[in-house]
Parts: sequence; C-alpha cells; structure tokens
Amino acid sequence: MTSINQNYLELQGSYLFSEIAKRRTKFIQENPNAEIISLGIGDVTRGLPDAVLKAMHGAVDELAAPGSFRGYGPEQGYDFLINAIIENDYKARGIDIATNEVFVSDGSKCDVGNIQEIFSENSIVAVQDPVYPVYVDTNVMAGRSGKYNQETKRYENIAYLSCTAENDFKPSLPDRKVDIIYLCYPNNPTGMTLTKEELKVWVDYAKANNCIILYDSAYEAFIQEEDVPHSIYEIEGAKEVAIEFRSFSKTAGFTGVRCAYTVVPRELKGLDAAGNEVLINDLWNRRHTTKFNGVSYVTQRGAAAIYSEEGREQIKALVDYYMTNAGIIRDGLASIGLEVFGGVNAPYIWLKTPGGMDSWSFFDKLLSEANIVGTPGVGFGQSGQGYFRLTAFGSRENTEKAVERIRKLSL
Ligand code: PLP
Repeated sequence: MTSINQNYLELQGSYLFSEIAKRRTKFIQENPNAEIISLGIGDVTRGLPDAVLKAMHGAVDELAAPGSFRGYGPEQGYDFLINAIIENDYKARGIDIATNEVFVSDGSKCDVGNIQEIFSENSIVAVQDPVYPVYVDTNVMAGRSGKYNQETKRYENIAYLSCTAENDFKPSLPDRKVDIIYLCYPNNPTGMTLTKEELKVWVDYAKANNCIILYDSAYEAFIQEEDVPHSIYEIEGAKEVAIEFRSFSKTAGFTGVRCAYTVVPRELKGLDAAGNEVLINDLWNRRHTTKFNGVSYVTQRGAAAIYSEEGREQIKALVDYYMTNAGIIRDGLASIGLEVFGGVNAPYIWLKTPGGMDSWSFFDKLLSEANIVGTPGVGFGQSGQGYFRLTAFGSRENTEKAVERIRKLSL
C-alpha cells in the first residue's frame, strides 16, 4: 500500500467545533423547545452590500456576452481589483505597494495555510496562544511541529506566545530562536490589538533576528481607534520582514463568496541552502500560479465594488452594525461584573469566565441556563483556558436577547 504523509497523524482531532456541535445537539434533543442563540462561530449574518450585488450581476451579464466573455484570468488577480486594493488600502495610508506584490485569492484561510510551504521544513514557528488553529495545523501537516505533548497540550517544536489578561493579551518576544512568527491583529479570538509602537517592537525584532512575520489582518476593517495600525507596513522597515493577509469575508459578507488577498513585498528575502538570498515574492508567485487558477471574474468585480463610493458607505454600515453588537455585548457583560476584553476594534468579545470556572463548564452553563452557544477559549490553546469567546456577527435582536439572558444568570 502507498505510504501516507505521517505528519497528518500528528494532528489533533478538530475537537473544538465538533464538541460544540455534539453538546448543542444533545441539549436540543433533551430540550426541543429551547430557543438557542448562537454567538459561537465567526460567520457573518448580514447579506452582501448592494454595490457588490450590482457589480456581480453586471459581471455575470458580461460573461454571457461573446464580446466580453472571460475565461481563465491572471492567477494573481485582475488589475482592476489589485489597483483598487493598492489605492484604497495602502496608498491612502501613505504605503507604497506595487501591483506585483498583491496576490488575490479565494480566502485568507488558504493563504495563511499555504504560505508555510515556501519555507524550510526546519523553520521554527512561533504562534500566539490562544491562536487561530490554521497556523498550527498547517505546520503540523508540513512536519514542523514535532510531537504533541498530551500533558502540556502543545507541540514540542512550536514556540507558543501566551496572551492572557496578565500581559494584556500582548505576547512577549520569543525566548528562543524562531524563523516564522504568526501575528493576528485585530486578534481572533481575543479581539485585542497592538498600537503602532507595540507592533514596531515586533518588526524591529524580526529585522534584528532574521525572522519573517506572517501578519493576519482579516479583521482590519473593524479597527475604530486611532493608534491601531491598519497595516503592518505602516511600520518602517516592515516590508523587509512581513507578509500581510487581508480578507473580504467579514468586511463585506464574503464568507460564502470567497475573496481575499496577500501582500508579499519585493524587499522580503529568505536564504537558500547555499546561503544565497531569494525573493519570497518570486516563490509565492510560483506557488500561486502553479497551484491556483485565480478567483472568478464575477467575484473580483464584486470585491472591487467595495472600494466605490457607494460600496465604501455600505461596508461602513455593515461594520458599524456588527460593532454596535460588540458594544452591546461588552457593556452588557461588564455591567454585571464580568471581565471583558476585545470588542472595541474587533467583532470578538473575550471574557474571563466567572468564579474561576473552566471554559467548558462555562459553555455548559451558558447553554443549559441561557440557551446560548459560544466558544470555549481553551479550544484555541492552553492560554485560552478560563476564557470564552462571543462574536458580534449575530442579528441585533439575537444579540440583545442573548445579553439579557446572560444578565439574568446567577454568576
Ligand atoms: N484569519 C483569521 C484570523 C480568521 O479568523 C479567519 C476566519 O475566520 C480567516 C483568516 C479566514 O478568512 P477567509 O474567510 O478569508 O478564509
């Protein structure tokens, strides 16, 4: 028989969401009349903005007409979208990005998952803990993680950077040599951010220690405060050390439509086995064009419409809607004495479970006594134990109802 990639057997079961589903199903079977509100999974609930819809309908019509039909497009994305991204997301903030540094894709999950394959198998990876699990699992698949320790519940070769209330959810610099650092800001799951000065510490560290930062900025559009950087390239020198990932998923209701992009600056270099410098951009371009055939024309037209005047207003309204939900959750929980974090520049609220309860006990209490499904923090890593995530992506009505129910609990 053919041998398999042994690394896959090192993966831990995707326990978190299957366990949530299992407990939820059991509860519904036992309580068929319970009206469950889900503030667990990070999917959006509002429809696509009008400007996007119009652009996508127009693009479908173009595809039907022989003169404007499009087949395979450029794997990296159409110029109309790349130029809109550069003008609005970068030039408007004083950042110079060239067209050959932007790679449009069908989602940040794929990009943050695939990027690791252009780096050496021996690279040491650092992740924040709690963490978006894709960073860890894709490195496990690639054989970089080492063995999983059942006691510590961590992989032996991965450097975990703990983010807890004690350090205000700001990770300390690694205490050993690492090559690749995943940073996610605004953060999923904690909803917390770094200031420019704090992010500069990481850029300077990466420069001084020859590391590459993989900067996942999927929630950039939710930033409200002044001193929070929208792009890592706002920090001087970041183009020499960082790759940035952005997604239209949460910004514009694209979780089902699928469109995102990755910026790989031409200044960013790695070393080959002989110690020669290699442009990371060239490698990613090669990988992207070999393994990916581009995002559909219709989708890219929809994404480009987000940058029109009408589109920008509609996106702002969407973000405002979710951030109002975030405020309702934050204020509601704080008013009953719960310790809450995030929810100011991100659609996630991270709360400390009351009375020292562990994450799963709080999940069960919330489900059984308030009929609310959230996400146990420990599912994102050991440093998430004793925390719990709620999302602002529900409807206003459900969000208000959920907060009312939590307020009535005895905690
Ligand atoms: N990065 C983070 C931190 C996320 O939370 C998510 C989605 O939940 C993604 C990336 C994936 O986004 P996309 O829908 O673009 O694949």
